[in-house]
Amino acid sequence: MKAVISSHNKNMLAQDHGATAAPVQQPRTCNCKNKPKCPLQGNCVKENVVYQATVATETTTETHVGLASNFKERYRNHQTSFRHRSKRNETELSKYIWDLKDRKKSFHVKWRILRSCQPYSNVSKECDLCLQEKYFIIRKDLSSLNKRNELASSCRHRNRLSLKFFRILFIAFDVVEFYPSISLELLSEALQFASEHDPITDNERHIILEAKSSLLYSYGEPWGKKTS
Ligand SMILES: [Zn+2]
Ligand SMILES: [Zn+2]
Repeated sequence: MKAVISSHNKNMLAQDHGATAAPVQQPRTCNCKNKPKCPLQGNCVKENVVYQATVATETTTETHVGLASNFKERYRNHQTSFRHRSKRNETELSKYIWDLKDRKKSFHVKWRILRSCQPYSNVSKECDLCLQEKYFIIRKDLSSLNKRNELASSCRHRNRLSLKFFRILFIAFDVVEFYPSISLELLSEALQFASEHDPITDNERHIILEAKSSLLYSYGEPWGKKTS
């Protein structure tokens, strides 16, 4: 018995020693100031999820499905829309909450994660997040407040990549300002790089051409002249 205890103590000492030498950083699962009020019971730090809000009154239960790249950020926006009347039309959920408030009904909102998803993939060109959300919106028993036309909404995550592409493009334009001699190659490279990550739509091409011509006019000389 003594041997067991002493070996246990040794283990504890070894663990203690290990802990002081290299503290193990646990990933934070909740960043709520008020932990007992965490919407996901201490697991609110979640990315790329389809979530469900259930709104219960004394006599009714309604559900709303949404997606979030960052759940907590999305949750905070929902809370803001419940507090400010000016934001009542932000979502079908906030419309319903305000309807209840107007009718002086007391209610309770519960949150849960329906599914964790892969973010938009520029390899498959598919957005698991949007597909999964739509899958749950079809299920009326899980999303009574969602509107059918939400099924037709296009993926915003793909566009987010395009925004990244535009940032790259405008950095290229900035560099061009300092090094006009490499302008044309740089633009072609930026376009080439971006199109490998995300196909360029007609709309995007149009914007690029607009930007290119305004640049051209702001310098008052033809694009790429200095490269020749
Ligand atoms: Zn939390
Ligand atoms: Zn998407």
